[in-house]
Amino acid sequence: MAEHVYICDVAKHEGKDVTIKGWLYNKRDKGRLQFLILRDGTGFMQAVAFKGDLSEEEFEAARRVTQESSVIARGTVRADKRAPGGYELSLNHFEIVQLTQDYPITPKEHGIDFLMDRRHLWLRSQKQWAIMRVRATVIRAIRDWLDDHGFLLVDAPILTPAACEGTTTLFETEYFGQKAYLSQSGQLYNEATIMAFGRTYCFGPTFRAEKSKTRRHLIEFWMVEPEMAYADLEDCMRIEEEFVSYIVQRTLTERQQELEILERDTSKLEQISPPFPRITYNEALEILRQHGEELPWGEDFGAPHETILASQFEKPIFVHRYPAQCKAFYMEADPEDPRLSLSVDLLAPEGYGEIIGGGQRTASLELLEQRIQEHNLPREALEWYLDLRRYGSVPHAGFGLGIERTVTWICGLHHIRQTIPFPRTLGRIYP
Ligand code: ATP
Ligand code: MG
Repeated sequence: MAEHVYICDVAKHEGKDVTIKGWLYNKRDKGRLQFLILRDGTGFMQAVAFKGDLSEEEFEAARRVTQESSVIARGTVRADKRAPGGYELSLNHFEIVQLTQDYPITPKEHGIDFLMDRRHLWLRSQKQWAIMRVRATVIRAIRDWLDDHGFLLVDAPILTPAACEGTTTLFETEYFGQKAYLSQSGQLYNEATIMAFGRTYCFGPTFRAEKSKTRRHLIEFWMVEPEMAYADLEDCMRIEEEFVSYIVQRTLTERQQELEILERDTSKLEQISPPFPRITYNEALEILRQHGEELPWGEDFGAPHETILASQFEKPIFVHRYPAQCKAFYMEADPEDPRLSLSVDLLAPEGYGEIIGGGQRTASLELLEQRIQEHNLPREALEWYLDLRRYGSVPHAGFGLGIERTVTWICGLHHIRQTIPFPRTLGRIYP
């Protein structure tokens, strides 16, 4: 029996007989020749069934096999420049494990609702396969970079006693007779862990009941949040540009094939390296004004504004020092102008919008107490957080990078919903 190998490894077996265990992705019927595109999870490969090389029964199986039937195929690996992936399998054995009837996702075009209802099957399609593999690499790059730069993984809880990014997007649940909320961010907990470990990050799912339908918002998304003790706004931006450049370059190196499947023009991504341009919120308002977008001071940017700003530059851009009123309560005030916060967002190029929000956090107990009051936040639930300013408070900074926004940008996708295996969007929780 020929060795079972994965499609991603066939190049190592040129000229040898191997067994592929997978599914039929697509086929072309040329009479005595059947061209079968197989997939096994690690890749896609063409197998050729020639009538003379198989038993009658096996050739008949190759002829009648249907899309997404599970199959076991044995054959000789041959290099062939015309074959996708550069190798082809000349079959000498073919067997159907289960014959699939009426697989709903055919090679023709389908509407998005149809596909979203069948997300559990849609994941088998080549583009979805490519996106998930890019996502895995982005996550791997994130962890490697942080682990190699002195950040300790210290995860934050998912069930929390209070809001941290504003109460309008909170998911409430019942917790043994008390109210609890699904985490919107691990940030407050990171501020505790950096005082214990110096540089930390948490990485996990976050939940926001976003009530507007946009192509950049999910209800459940994954965020990585690095935080640093003894760091300021400037340190934050330096770390972010190194970090994001690494993620992009590593993905370009490791996921060339997938980006090709996605027809991503990678020339723009190749240029992503530090430093990234930095503009202030006030400068951003001026750029918008010059482009006919008058925005009142103090208002946050929407997607169209972000697109205008980003299109002025080739690389991601930092917009820093937003008015305190459009940022979370814990942002440090700008000593030069207390109406401003030491906050910074990173906007991706090509109109993909904000991928990171971050900045320097308030070190002073008094200012924090005042902000909690102004924002109408429950002080009792945040008492522990105030302790961090009572016992050895230091300047500190950090940020949150949204995994799905980053993958949307790197893959060049129109909508964020394809970047997570099972998207939770406004009103949709199936499958
Ligand atoms: P936006 O203004 O676009 O809603 P935000 O200011 O609410 O973003 P932050 O609270 O700073 O975002 O969150 C940090 C990062 O998390 C964002 O830069 C983005 O990458 C990601 N993010 C935030 N909300 C969502 C969401 N609903 N779906 C997917 N990613 C999100
Ligand atoms: Mg938001």
